[in-house]
Amino acid sequence: MRARELGLADPGTASVTHPSCTHTLGVDGKVFNSPQRTLDTERVDRATGEIRPVRQDPARGQHREGGASDVVLGTKFAIMSVRAPMAGLRVITGIQHVPAGDGRGEAGAFVDLACSAAELLPGARAPVGDGALRGTHINEIQTRTGLQVVSPPRTRSLGRGGVPIGGKGQAIKQLRPSPSRDKAFASCVHDLRAAGGIVERTIAADGTEIYTEVERGKVRRDALASGLWSLYAVHRLPCAQTGVTHEWSESLTPTSTDESYGFNRSEYMRAYQRSDPDYRRIYAMRQDTESFNVQFEQMFYKNRLPAWGLHRQTLAVLGAVMAQNAWALYVWHHLAEANKEPPGAAA
Ligand SMILES: [Zn+2]
Repeated sequence: MRARELGLADPGTASVTHPSCTHTLGVDGKVFNSPQRTLDTERVDRATGEIRPVRQDPARGQHREGGASDVVLGTKFAIMSVRAPMAGLRVITGIQHVPAGDGRGEAGAFVDLACSAAELLPGARAPVGDGALRGTHINEIQTRTGLQVVSPPRTRSLGRGGVPIGGKGQAIKQLRPSPSRDKAFASCVHDLRAAGGIVERTIAADGTEIYTEVERGKVRRDALASGLWSLYAVHRLPCAQTGVTHEWSESLTPTSTDESYGFNRSEYMRAYQRSDPDYRRIYAMRQDTESFNVQFEQMFYKNRLPAWGLHRQTLAVLGAVMAQNAWALYVWHHLAEANKEPPGAAA
């Protein structure tokens, strides 16, 4: 596989707790324009007055882009890529068409891409996506692949029950008891809640509520007999009441009691909190994938796919992907020959 040829996603250097950029899979959706430019289904020939049908592009659909409310017409693909530490050296690991109105949307395509990438690239550790990924998608990726999903925590405005964390309104849920927490907090009481990670709620002298993010440490993943995965993260909380630092393991994947409490764990317990330096570092790699959008826009005149129908359009995009990956391989060889440090060891 091309990514491995360039020394990317090397299983030998993969870290579960602090994945590097070469082990991070950036995913984003991209809408290409259709060669069909009109919504009309028929057109009048001005010279003869004859009514002719307009050729229809069956692949064209209505999509939302980048969380914007305006709808764009076109063919949408989800694109997953992995990059080298140096600028501009990236390999596309997969593309998938996003049908309009199939109920799964781009997040569904992200799930499929993450699951297939996990199989093909055993060194991959962290798929990173935008707010389109909700709890159910994150849960599906994490339990099926054992990879930690990096995506922004769920926001909620302060007026609608959100709490201020890191200057942003964030959705919050009470944490239900767990055996490991009960053991860690045997002799003191802390008001712990889930909001993008674990936060402690305290009340200041003037009555203001303060939410402090609890430090997340090492992540462990267990392969279950069922073929699924469990992810756990160590959490540490220095305690003013007892002087000790509480340490316990918190599940990132659903526990057996979550359902009875109605706790959507993956929605409120993200692998990384917003203030985590790893979150900022890894999430920046998703923003990085947006430069692909510009690149694709330049590859196709006016971002217009030169093909009709899904199968031909997919081939056109695949061609662009292969050109991108061939270029990445060329640059890599060029750097290796110039005796510069290649991105990771050659496979
Ligand atoms: Zn305590």
